[in-house]
Amino acid sequence: MRIDLHTHSTASDGTLTPAELVTAAAQTGLDVLAITDHDTTAGWAPAAAARPAGLALVRGAELSCRWYGVTPAIPLHLLAYLFDPTEPELVAELARVRRAREQRGERIVDRLRADGVDITWDEVLGYAGGGTVGRPHIAQALIRAGLVATTSAAFAPQWLGERYRLPKEDTDVFTAVRLVRGAGGVPVFAHPRATRRGTIVPDSLIVEMAAAGLFGLEADHEDHSPQERAHVRRLAGELGLVVTGSSDFHGTHKSVRLGAHTTAPDAYERIVIAATGVPLLH
Ligand code: AMP
Ligand code: FE
Ligand code: FE
Ligand code: ZN
Repeated sequence: MRIDLHTHSTASDGTLTPAELVTAAAQTGLDVLAITDHDTTAGWAPAAAARPAGLALVRGAELSCRWYGVTPAIPLHLLAYLFDPTEPELVAELARVRRAREQRGERIVDRLRADGVDITWDEVLGYAGGGTVGRPHIAQALIRAGLVATTSAAFAPQWLGERYRLPKEDTDVFTAVRLVRGAGGVPVFAHPRATRRGTIVPDSLIVEMAAAGLFGLEADHEDHSPQERAHVRRLAGELGLVVTGSSDFHGTHKSVRLGAHTTAPDAYERIVIAATGVPLLH
């Protein structure tokens, strides 16, 4: 069984539509795919409608969170699987984060324009195509303007990686764990040791998150070194958390392929059994 539990579509900052994503997953030989767009469930219905026979679909999302226990607060990503997409408190929080992303995106564009960069917010919204707006959509505008050649070049420190990186108002991570559990979902900490993405949280926070209802840790991810993967596995073992692996596929916004990293069947089964929000589609 090949199981990829973290992928993005055009409902956020991926480049395949949800229908194209499930088709590509089946063609790649995956048996299980999770669709986990940033802060939205908008891709669930089109992915479910296009799901090829033989591909199991885990409906999920990747929640933009922050640990506010230190200053400055540290951003982190929480994967949420098989939660009820109509649970009012969670729905309201996802909508709030999407609005915060738009406000922050517009401020980033304002700063770039103030420095003479000829891109517009309307253009960026066009690239997002109605999905959750993220820096990759601003990157597309920078590419169009001829300032960088690739999305990853747009994340260099002189662009969106640092100089024009502004924080967004993410969900407090303990609130997020509570909301996901309250909606019958299963929360898994995405790429928890990815030092190359920026500051990471201490293991003591992961211990607290586990006590608050965290279910798993993503170990096999392209942003983790072999040492970081081993560390995550050890910690998960100590805390009784499941270990996952995934591609974090974003289409042509990143070079990683679907199924580049995968989750073991027993970990996947534990997630499915623990969830009560919506069923696995298979
Ligand atoms: P945001 O959610 O707006 O903060 O933007 C973060 C998103 O940008 C991540 O989810 C990735 O999809 C993408 N991203 C971050 N770093 C890079 C990079 N170095 N190259 C390409 N995409 C990246
Ligand atoms: Fe992304
Ligand atoms: Fe992430
Ligand atoms: Zn992701």
